[in-house]
Parts: sequence; structure tokens; C-alpha cells
Amino acid sequence: MTHWQELEHRYFMHTFNRIPVTLVKGRGVRVWDEDGREYLDFVGGWAVDSLGHCPSVVVDAVTRQVKTLIHTSNQFYTIPQIQLAELLVQHSCLDKVFFSNSGAEANEGAIKLARRYGKQHLNGAYEVITTSSSFHGRTLAMVAASGQAKFQLPYVPLPVGFINVEYNDVNAIKQATTDKTCAVMLEPLQGEGGVNLADEGYLVAVQKWCEQKGILFILDEIQTGMGRIGTLFAYQQYGVEPDIMTLAKGLASGMPIGAILAKDRAAVFTPGEHGSTFGGNPVTCAAGYAALKYIIEHDIAGNARRVGQHLAAELNRLKQKYPLVADVRGRGLLMAMEFSRDIASPVVVGCLDRGLLVNRLKPNALRFMPPLVINNDEIDEGIEILDKVLLTVGD
Ligand SMILES: *Cc1c(COP(=O)(O)O)cnc(C)c1O
Repeated sequence: MTHWQELEHRYFMHTFNRIPVTLVKGRGVRVWDEDGREYLDFVGGWAVDSLGHCPSVVVDAVTRQVKTLIHTSNQFYTIPQIQLAELLVQHSCLDKVFFSNSGAEANEGAIKLARRYGKQHLNGAYEVITTSSSFHGRTLAMVAASGQAKFQLPYVPLPVGFINVEYNDVNAIKQATTDKTCAVMLEPLQGEGGVNLADEGYLVAVQKWCEQKGILFILDEIQTGMGRIGTLFAYQQYGVEPDIMTLAKGLASGMPIGAILAKDRAAVFTPGEHGSTFGGNPVTCAAGYAALKYIIEHDIAGNARRVGQHLAAELNRLKQKYPLVADVRGRGLLMAMEFSRDIASPVVVGCLDRGLLVNRLKPNALRFMPPLVINNDEIDEGIEILDKVLLTVGD
């Protein structure tokens, strides 16, 4: 263990079982540790570094803004916040934006918005239906919203108002809907919960049901948004339009930001009902504006789609080669490889030793979410390493 890792153990709460590598530098799809070792990065800061590490458009925007105005308060207008909001509205089906600092905080705001809507239009309805294996964040209310017992059990009792039903089962949503329901909240493709794809027609059926009942359809696109699965937003591939959508992770390509987007009719907050000290900060919004502009102008979503197809083909080739690969699934540059045995940890370590960072999604599954600017050659380089590791771990 290095000096830094010893200090971490001494001073930092033990919430992360970290990989024993201290990263000090990043550029493009590569990072370097304190000993100068280079790694190809298929984790991408947990689907955050959409344009890779230290992309010059974001570095320049942040540098310019940090020298001009780092922070003021939301009592005043600031320009980067307005520019980013306008660009998000122009390129989505939503009409209004609110900025937060993280994904969980964006989802909290979305739930508050749905409850305000319930008070104003649905006789005080406040319950939100969410799904099994979902992940919506780590705040207490979002732990209650997320359909995963491992995040909930340490903290019971949890805030009320969330009804959890099976994912990909529209009838379960119908049965759970009562006159207390104000919204349904889903991920269009579940990330943390296992890279679980929505079945054909599921999201359309859920949206139809929400329309029929007059309740809000909320999509958590914190992981799937910003081009990750091959279109700027995932909903565009599924023939649906959310009333409320949340974003975070890749929105500012590495800077901490979250956003709630809503259709006009759902954007019912009035002054004083919601707020944030740091949310909409000029520096993070300048980063978000530069990143989003670049993503749109350079069709980064298209790159994610094309390179994602190549990644899927290569992972499927390994599935043919190694019987212990049980499943390959995902879309764009959000893919998972599942094994028939719990070998994800040794595979992660094997890859690390050979200079590749991959995410252990579950004891028996890996997740791949590299920067969206990655190319086929870099995918091949990573696949070659994974192939070698599977050869040794697999028997
Ligand atoms: C990561 C994630 C969150 C939580 O975002 P934080 O920025 O960690 O609070 C919420 N929803 C989804 C779908 C996510 O992937």
C-alpha cells in the first residue's frame, strides 16, 4: 500500500472498497497512477467523463469562467446557467430546467416537483411508483426510491411515498396506481441495477398509462443521457417523451452537476419552493455548456452508437469463445458482460494488472462505460486485454 492509500485509511470514512491505485492524471481515454503506470479507462469516472479526461473544450471553458466569476448566488442572473438551460431545452422535448449538484439531488427535486403537481392537480396525491433493481441515488429519499434492499436495510425506517414494483411489468404499475399516485419514475435502461434493458413496448405502455391517469412520467436519465446509449437522450430511442427528466453524470464531462428538466405543464415550482446554493454555479454550467455543445456539434451520440456496436460485437465474440460468459447486454457505450460464476473481481484485478480499468457491476458481471469519444482501435486494445484475462481466469 502506498503512502496516499495509508493516509486514506487513516482519515477517510470507510465507505468505498477502493481499487489499490491512486490516479493522478488523465488525458482522453487514458489515466495514469502515481507511479506513472498507464491505464485504458473503460469506467470513465462512472459514466461521467463523457468527452474523456481533461477534454480541451471543457478545460478551456472552465479556465475562462474560473478567472471571470467563480460563484455568485441564485438571487442574480448568471450567463452560463442560462446558456446551458437554453441548449438543453432546444435539444430535448422538455421546456424548463433547474440545476443541482448531483444526480440524487436532481431526483430529489423531481420528486418534490411531482408532489407539488400532485398537490395542485391530483388532490394531494404524493406517491411515486419506482421499480425493482432501480438506482436513483444515495440521499435518504432516493434510497427509499431505489428498488435495492442492500441500499435500504442499513437505514430503515425510510421516508414514505415510494411504491416499488417489478421492472418491465406495466401491469404491476397499473395495479400499484391509486388515487395517491402522482408519478412513475423509471430508468430507460437500468445502469447500477445490472444494465437491464427495457422490454420492447414497456416505456410506451408506461407513458400511455401515465397519460390515461393524469400522473407524471419521470425518466431518470442520469446514466443514460448525454449520448451514452447512442442518442442524446435514451427516451429518443423508445418512442416516448417524459414529463420530467433528470440528468447528471455526463452532463458537464467531469464537473459535478445535475439537472431537472420538465415540460411546461409539469414545471409547477413557484418562487421559494425549491433552491440550491451551488446548483447552477457558473463554472460547472460553463463546463456543461461547452460539453453539451461539443456533444451535439460532433455527434458524439452517433460515435457512442457506432463504437458501441463494435464493442457489443467484440464482447459477443468473447462470449462465443468462453462458455463461462453467460450474457452480453446493453446499448451504445453502456454494456455489461455476465459470467456463470462469481469471477468479476479476479477479472477486474487481471485487467488492472494489464492496464485496463473495468467496473465490477456485480460479483458475476462487469460493466463497460468508457468515454463517449473512444474509437474502435481503443476498444480493440481493451478487448485484447480482457481476452487474455478471461483465458487465465476462465479455467
Ligand atoms: C449515478 C446515478 C444516480 C445518482 O447520481 P449521484 O450524482 O451519484 O447522486 C441516480 N440515478 C442514476 C440512474 C444513476 O446512474
